[in-house]
Amino acid sequence: MQTQFSKQQLKDEDNRSSEKIFRKCVHCGFCNATCPTYNLLGNELDGPRGRIYLIKDMIENNKPASEKVVKHIDRCLSCYSCMTTCPSGVNYMHLIDHGRMHIEKTFKRPLGDRFIRNFLSQIMPYPFRFRIIGILTLFIKPFNFIFPKKLREMIKLMPVNFPKKNLPKMKTYPAEKRKKPVARVALLTGCVQQVISPQINEATIRLLNRHGIEVVVPKGINCCGSLNHHLGKSDLAKQTFKKNILIWYDEYLKNGLDAIISNTSGCGTTLKDYGFIFRSNYDLKKKSKKISELTKDISEYLDENVKLNFIKNKENKKEYKIAYHSACSMQHGQKIHDIPINLIKKTGNKVFDIPEGHLCCGSAGTYNLLQNDIAGKLLKNKIINIDKINPEFITTGNIGCITQIANGTKIPILHTVEVIDWYTGGPKPKILGNL
Ligand code: SF4
Ligand code: SF4
Repeated sequence: MQTQFSKQQLKDEDNRSSEKIFRKCVHCGFCNATCPTYNLLGNELDGPRGRIYLIKDMIENNKPASEKVVKHIDRCLSCYSCMTTCPSGVNYMHLIDHGRMHIEKTFKRPLGDRFIRNFLSQIMPYPFRFRIIGILTLFIKPFNFIFPKKLREMIKLMPVNFPKKNLPKMKTYPAEKRKKPVARVALLTGCVQQVISPQINEATIRLLNRHGIEVVVPKGINCCGSLNHHLGKSDLAKQTFKKNILIWYDEYLKNGLDAIISNTSGCGTTLKDYGFIFRSNYDLKKKSKKISELTKDISEYLDENVKLNFIKNKENKKEYKIAYHSACSMQHGQKIHDIPINLIKKTGNKVFDIPEGHLCCGSAGTYNLLQNDIAGKLLKNKIINIDKINPEFITTGNIGCITQIANGTKIPILHTVEVIDWYTGGPKPKILGNL
């Protein structure tokens, strides 16, 4: 794609990076074939190629975002399926991030939209605030009908359970039965996940401790920052990124860290991009690069570093038929697909890929809250494809997908790490009941 950025425009580092990406695009449109929104809506502007044109036009011509551009960019899931398909290596993720930042700076959204986006930005990254709002929502749910449609859908999606945590809150979870751990890792406990599904972090910690690995959860880190990043609120996101980088880097220097573990693939994708985000920041360049290098999805870390000790007992001797849902941020964002499947296969169960598994379930961070019509259609398609397998349970590596898919089916869905924990001596996940 030809570009005509002026020398002045190219002094800006975001423009410089985006210009290089635009130039890689050869307009072939292969990406449209695997784009969930293009497949659903059939409009060129709701596919990656069309969106790339819209972003280029805004940025190259210094135009404020128009209502039309915002509509089509907002409909993008940031699922990155287009990046997997693109033969030219176009980094769409960095373009859409740039586009969203430009929209946030140049477009005044209607009052209702602004309220909802600011609300999400001020609530979801903070576990305590999210828990309070979640509990309040339980009282509002019966009177849901009085609210406008968008708010009604959001309230419907709020969790109804806030399970109790079983592990005490500590900075360090020591390795079991050894004086010196075989490795020391930091765990990103996340924001929403630790409130609605604390068992995922607990399974991760137990599993790592049991295999001789010390786990640290440094104080002050909850959210990875991607929620605000994807809302285009780059200043807020960067504050979180910076805080996380400094805390982890300090821990790395003072006590040593072999890895930073993410058990939510959406967050892992962003952590692995910290190095790019601060590529020109004198103070953070080296530190952010190190944090990105240290970041591993839990499945990736287990596969590369841990000899898992699988145990058969009366609780887990049955052979299950499991559907593996490959979260977009896992397969397209981090390019991890086979690793979790092979790990689950080691438990002796039958694991099946979901047909059309490259297509998003509609979760996509806050997407199911902000674009519930499209998200609902994607969920419906996902459930139809899951039903083709007829699994006893579903497993995946991203809390957003777990919540979204659970809204569309009665088939239990749990995190992959819970399955691995169970088959290596941990408790049977509660959600499986007597299954
Ligand atoms: S990120 Fe997903 S929704 Fe957005 S353009 Fe790419 S494939 Fe389509
Ligand atoms: S597949 Fe890649 S090169 Fe082709 S139009 Fe899409 S982004 Fe451009």
